Amino acid sequence: MRKGIQFIVSGPSGGGKTTLAKTMLDKLENLRFSVSCTTRTPREGEIDGKDYKFISHAEFEQMVDKGQFVEHALVHGNYYGTPLSEFEDAGTSGVDLLLDIDVQGASQIRRNYPNAVFCFVLPPSIEILEERLVERNSNGEVDIQRRLDRAREEVAPSILEEYDYIIINDELDKALEAMFSIIVSTRCQSSRIIDKIKASFLAE
Ligand code: 5GP
Repeated sequence: MRKGIQFIVSGPSGGGKTTLAKTMLDKLENLRFSVSCTTRTPREGEIDGKDYKFISHAEFEQMVDKGQFVEHALVHGNYYGTPLSEFEDAGTSGVDLLLDIDVQGASQIRRNYPNAVFCFVLPPSIEILEERLVERNSNGEVDIQRRLDRAREEVAPSILEEYDYIIINDELDKALEAMFSIIVSTRCQSSRIIDKIKASFLAE
């Protein structure tokens, strides 16, 4: 059985990660979205269990204590975490997993799962990011400023160089093409499919 691949996508909110991720999930078979747990309140239109599992602080802390997260972090004043069960099930069932998580979470995963693939999605400039956040208008002024400050911190070379790929989301079509190519070519890496080939071609 082929092992599932974990595709980690990070980048400032407003940079287009969610659109890229949703399109990949529509276009590609055998790819599942990793539904994170969060203590943040749902935004309009978000569905519990589909976008996030919205849980209380107490529930989050309990999951941390029981070691039920593969990574977790405090982002923009709220807690977010990737459930370990979901992460490991995907690996063993051969399904690829797409994770939309911040740089702290990505760094925790990198330490334990070096075979995961790390992609960073960037807007073309901080000004364009601000325009996009204002247009989205779901966060309020204080939150927008907090997200912009964080975006400035995240583009530090020491953070970016830890990612395998950087996608600059200037034109959506090109960014989609880049992410599609990354996933498809990673799936063709010989080290990832050699066992499957052995089983199909060399079975007695
Ligand atoms: P938002 O509140 O806009 O949905 O997400 C805020 C940030 O939290 C985004 O950068 C997103 O990638 C990150 N995030 C979402 N889920 C997780 C998670 O499970 N772990 C970590 N570390 N970050 C997450």
